[in-house]
Amino acid sequence: MTQVTKQASQSLFAEHAYLPDGWRRQVLLQWDAQGVLTSVTPDTAAPADVAKAAGPVVPGMPNLHSHAFQRAMAGLTEYRANATDNFWSWRDLMYRFAARITPEGLAAIAQWLYIEMLKAGYTSVCEFHYVHHMPDGSRYGNAAELAQRVVDAAQASGIGMTMLPVLYQFGGFGARAPREDQRRFINTPDSLLEMLNTLRGARPESSALRYGVAPHSLRAVSQQSLRTLLEGLDADLPGAPVHIHIAEQTAEVDACLETEGARPVQWLLDRFHVDGRWCLVHATHVNAEETLALARSGAIAGLCLTTEANLGDGIFPAQEYLDAQGRFGIGSDSHIGVDWRAELRLLEYGQRLVRRQRNVLASTDATHVADRLFDAALDGGARATGRAVNGLRPGQRADWLVLDADHSSIAEHASDAWLSGVVFCEHGETPIRDVYTGGTKVVSERKHRDEERAYAQYRVALAGLLK
Ligand code: ZN
Repeated sequence: MTQVTKQASQSLFAEHAYLPDGWRRQVLLQWDAQGVLTSVTPDTAAPADVAKAAGPVVPGMPNLHSHAFQRAMAGLTEYRANATDNFWSWRDLMYRFAARITPEGLAAIAQWLYIEMLKAGYTSVCEFHYVHHMPDGSRYGNAAELAQRVVDAAQASGIGMTMLPVLYQFGGFGARAPREDQRRFINTPDSLLEMLNTLRGARPESSALRYGVAPHSLRAVSQQSLRTLLEGLDADLPGAPVHIHIAEQTAEVDACLETEGARPVQWLLDRFHVDGRWCLVHATHVNAEETLALARSGAIAGLCLTTEANLGDGIFPAQEYLDAQGRFGIGSDSHIGVDWRAELRLLEYGQRLVRRQRNVLASTDATHVADRLFDAALDGGARATGRAVNGLRPGQRADWLVLDADHSSIAEHASDAWLSGVVFCEHGETPIRDVYTGGTKVVSERKHRDEERAYAQYRVALAGLLK
């Protein structure tokens, strides 16, 4: 049995573990009371009193982009309502949905979503949270009510969180007034920073929780408001993560060119000090110069492949970007799927389909695509969280997944083919068996400790929304 007892809960022995230098044998993992790894020792004998992992151990994957409430919409917009169904018509439907969200409903949706994430092997999430106010736009008694519900859902589920309250100020480029159906989202830099302070007071940062901000997009903030927001953030939380939707749609690129005289990524790089604290979500539409400049900046490209495919966004120039040593991570965004394996697979498959080649995103140093993409998404995703969740090494959070070595996608394979099987094969149930966060086993034999109760509450919330 692999049941972790209280006494032995600070260590685990793995016959195989995927460390920063690749697969290693006979690895002892040890962590402290805060759930942070204190030592990772390969090639060691199993101590007699230490629990053994039930299969190969790999680091947990960060999910760098989530809008929790959208989970409840997944599968409900897959029909054509007008001749040109696109991102913008989807957004109208999404706004109608957002208008109906209640605090209790959001809590139940987020709780279920984070359990799904954990079961799928995401051990951290960056929540790009923008539904802040009551449906008529007035403040809740606690202005941070909805964000706090989402933080509480994360903590109850066991997933690590980077909460990014969103500054949504304008309805479009040129500081256009917001639309009526955007009023739940609207803040000024000052009111957003105040909300963030309230939230930090109520739910302080820890090894499982970090804060940052998310200016929604260049169409939703001005140069001045973005500057005010960043200055305010740095006064309280210097160096905290900053995430932004940047170039998801060609219409957005055209509008930016027209009103600002530059493409979105170029505009941002020219005016702000964009570095490794930044995550540019959906850097989909970048030209060759922007691709190289983004890679050089050290910022993380936030790629959300299943959502970008679902919304018909376009294809990011991944090969050129990786060749330029650009950093990226992955996110489940709208949650049409919640599975990092599918995100990595689609990242490679988009390139294969466009180029009519195979193993496009491999390199001469890293010939196995899955391993290269896993390593890069782990590193970039961890940086985007602003938390110490970058793999199995001392000082990082004790977050990992235990694979099922008997699963038909990897059974009888040598270890150097395990990640390929996990990422590219789609055979039956997930090969992820157990999941640990902060050293605690939160998913055991593919079941989360709270899943029945959370699923029942999710269904109640969903039924209320769809009434
Ligand atoms: Zn998004």
